[in-house]
Amino acid sequence: MLDAIKELGDYVKEKEKLSDVEIFVDKAKLGKSTKKVLCILFQHRDDKITYTRVIPEDYKGASLYLYRRGTSRGVNISPSALITEEIGSTFENKIVNWFKNREDSLSVGIERELEKERDNIKEELVKCYKEIQEDERTNVLLTIMLEENGEKKYIGELPAFKEILMQDTLKTYYSRKTIGESKGRGVCYLCGKSGEVFGFVLPSFGFSFSTADKRGFLPDFVQEEHWKEVPICKDCAISLEIGKKFLDENLSYPKRGYSFFGCKYYVIPKFVFGEMLEEIYNYIMHFKNEEYEEGLLSKEDRLGEIVRDKEDILRLIFLFYKQKGGGAYIDIVRYVEDVLPSWVREIYNCQNSVRKMDIIQEKSIKKILGKKWIGDFVNGRMSKEKGLGRNNWFMKFTRDFFPSSNTEGVYDKYFMDVVSSILSRKPIDKDFMISAFVNRIRSAFKEHKGHDLKILCLKAFMLYSFLAKVDLLRGERMEEGKALEKIEGENFDSKVERFFREHGFNGAAKKAAFSVGMLVDYLLWVQRDERGIKDFGKEPFWSNLYGLILDEKKIKGLFPKAISKLRQYGKGKPTLEAVVSKYLAEAEQNWDISNDETSYYFALGMTLRRLFSKNKEEEKKEEE
Ligand SMILES: [Zn+2]
Repeated sequence: MLDAIKELGDYVKEKEKLSDVEIFVDKAKLGKSTKKVLCILFQHRDDKITYTRVIPEDYKGASLYLYRRGTSRGVNISPSALITEEIGSTFENKIVNWFKNREDSLSVGIERELEKERDNIKEELVKCYKEIQEDERTNVLLTIMLEENGEKKYIGELPAFKEILMQDTLKTYYSRKTIGESKGRGVCYLCGKSGEVFGFVLPSFGFSFSTADKRGFLPDFVQEEHWKEVPICKDCAISLEIGKKFLDENLSYPKRGYSFFGCKYYVIPKFVFGEMLEEIYNYIMHFKNEEYEEGLLSKEDRLGEIVRDKEDILRLIFLFYKQKGGGAYIDIVRYVEDVLPSWVREIYNCQNSVRKMDIIQEKSIKKILGKKWIGDFVNGRMSKEKGLGRNNWFMKFTRDFFPSSNTEGVYDKYFMDVVSSILSRKPIDKDFMISAFVNRIRSAFKEHKGHDLKILCLKAFMLYSFLAKVDLLRGERMEEGKALEKIEGENFDSKVERFFREHGFNGAAKKAAFSVGMLVDYLLWVQRDERGIKDFGKEPFWSNLYGLILDEKKIKGLFPKAISKLRQYGKGKPTLEAVVSKYLAEAEQNWDISNDETSYYFALGMTLRRLFSKNKEEEKKEEE
């Protein structure tokens, strides 16, 4: 993956004809957020430095200020700093301290003057800062300016400071305060040439791997503690630096501070023959400032149009990361390489077709969740759930079943496992998914949250259908669920059978568990109706459901119990009862599903029964 970033850097350097200063300044950090600059002006005449005043002005572009971040506690590479704390502290820590221990006469002169005028400068800085409009006070830049021969100059216009930027940046490639120096002659890990190589190139860009699976990212011989010391030559280091900045500016998602369920990610194009295509570059630049709120897919979908016929030469790398240390470094959480553009397109198409399934359209969802529902299931949830989008719903739903929460537990690793399996087209264990579904569904059940239970079942069903459609469910080769033609005047029995066929319910046990779930749901409705209970989940029979920890025996036992309750109320329902006993009989000798699956299909039956029911009395009463 490092080679892909280097290649990107090589291309951009050539294409954009970047000067050394442009390469080394942190342009992305200032980005669009810095509007104002406070310049501390010094007069430089006859080798004498005198403080003049503070000049507030508009931000004019990164190269003038030579801004480049240093370590979070120490000073920056140049005497330019973002005001992120109290302005007096930024002045002390990043400006005054920068000039300490420098030996050139210019720096020594400025340092002397800073010491002398320290209180005056601080006072004026505070005053000027307060005068900046509140909405322009984010990331104000603090820098110094020199007046020579009546001409004001930014540090970016002074050769001495440019040289310092270059030299000190190079120094970060091989020198770390805490570890010491690491450079010497050797073979560059990236280009393979012999010569001078530096050991700390990766950490100097803020790459860190504390939680990442490093396979593929770094060579095998690089052990846990030694990732920092990958030998890289100066040319490759500079290319990496440019490539990394290009990623930050153009290929980091989601943009504008959103997060992809707790992290961000880069999409890195990797060209099989190592050569970036002009077409792709132009494409990326064209969409540079667009936001893709739906993350992961929208962007690649558009990219898909362009790369469709470039299957042989282009792969995508997805690198998921978290920003740490206030943005000083990134922690690589997961790294998925060799993703085929056509596969990304396939994912997109499959999620799209699952979203069009009949049972999650408005008409069906109104039956399941009530008349007030508007839109299909995904659209209807979008206003209620942060991060949910029309095309990324399967990621969001995955996150719901592998949450990061105080009450439900932290499953970040499993979540990333599923995401990277989907991207890299690796099978996912069916039982693993089902048990995650059932975990959340049971906890809603336990708390008598009937509405939540139905929402979770619908999400699980959609997600499962998606994984089956992209054919990633190990242990479940689902037949392609095809919409079958509706039959006029269809009865309950054939409606249910058609649903099973459309959604690939193979084996009688699933159908049996599902049917008993429907019967119990009907009984619960009867109880609500008889007893004037408003909420699904508060009925007395809820407590006979074993906390949804079900197995074959319990399912079989629930059938007569439910029937006898219905008789007590005088509310038997022969059509439904007949369906249940038919599937129970079919499953009699052949219960081929796990207990978690039994529980899941039962809960699904509870959720979906009303799709098949034409109970006028029930619908009418629920409307009231
Ligand atoms: Zn090299």
